[in-house]
Amino acid sequence: MQLLDGKLLSQQIKQEIATQVTEIRSNGQKIPHLVAILVGTAGRSETYVASKMKSCEEVGMKSTLIRFDDSVTEAELLAKVEEVNQNPDMDGLIVQLPLPAHISADKVMETIHPSKDVDGFHPINIGRMAKGLPAYVSATPQGILEMLKRYEIETAGKHCVVVGRSQIVGLPMSILMQRNDYPGNCTVTLTHSRTKNLAEITRTADILIAALGKPEFITAEMVKEGAVVIDVGLEKVPDASKKSGFALKGDVKFDEVAPKAGFITPVPGGVGLMTICSLMQNTVKAARREVY
Ligand code: NAP
Repeated sequence: MQLLDGKLLSQQIKQEIATQVTEIRSNGQKIPHLVAILVGTAGRSETYVASKMKSCEEVGMKSTLIRFDDSVTEAELLAKVEEVNQNPDMDGLIVQLPLPAHISADKVMETIHPSKDVDGFHPINIGRMAKGLPAYVSATPQGILEMLKRYEIETAGKHCVVVGRSQIVGLPMSILMQRNDYPGNCTVTLTHSRTKNLAEITRTADILIAALGKPEFITAEMVKEGAVVIDVGLEKVPDASKKSGFALKGDVKFDEVAPKAGFITPVPGGVGLMTICSLMQNTVKAARREVY
């Protein structure tokens, strides 16, 4: 078994981005600028946004955090998105999900201009990605592709099973793994909560991508010997042995699956760190107008 080390890769990628930003700076060009909008303080959104902002700082990029209370109206939020769309100094915009129930996340995503949509959630970016046109690709799937590429994992002709069909992970992941490119050219099965005999399907996976948000759901008996196992899940579970009182768990029961897997991502230290790198790579592309 070989560990797919997101910590190591993300350090390498951050170093590469820092070098690019230094070049941009020394050429007198505009420093890439990522803007994040955060609504409320609930859940883990605050921690996620903080680590995105910190990573930008580490690589020398500019970042701005715009905060709203939970009581913000949809109209106020959309007006702020429009303001960022119009601001030529701001290259990339992310609105941290989830949003309060009175705000339509779809409406917000559709209001972000596709050229600033570095999270790759706008329907135009999803459509362009599906057609194989230049697009911002959703950050987590892009991070997984980068990981497969850097570990030179063979994908052509393999059976890739994706568990979970969310708009931000499972669905784009399934599209990317079937495209005629590397990584890609897999035969893909996309599964979800209505899938029957899930274990029978996952056992046939050469590449198994778990993105369902159910801690330790994927057990050893669901995995084929030698499979590449990518664990996207990231959930807090109570753990009295930890000072914080909780542990972060993935969707895969790591201790029993790891000995059986060919390659596997740990949680934490796997996919999550790659996601932040994708976001910064997309912001550099946005500043350089490489996609639009
Ligand atoms: P989501 O929107 O809640 O989607 C979960 C998907 O899993 C749904 O399609 C659901 O099916 C499916 N599912 C649920 N229970 C299932 C079961 N028993 N068998 C098969 N499929 C099942 O989740 P998400 O936003 O994609 O996130 C998934 C996990 O990844 C979460 O733990 C999240 O925290 C994590 N995540 C991590 C990163 C990162 O950077 N590391 C980024 C994004 C998300 P239905 O469609 O039928 O309901």
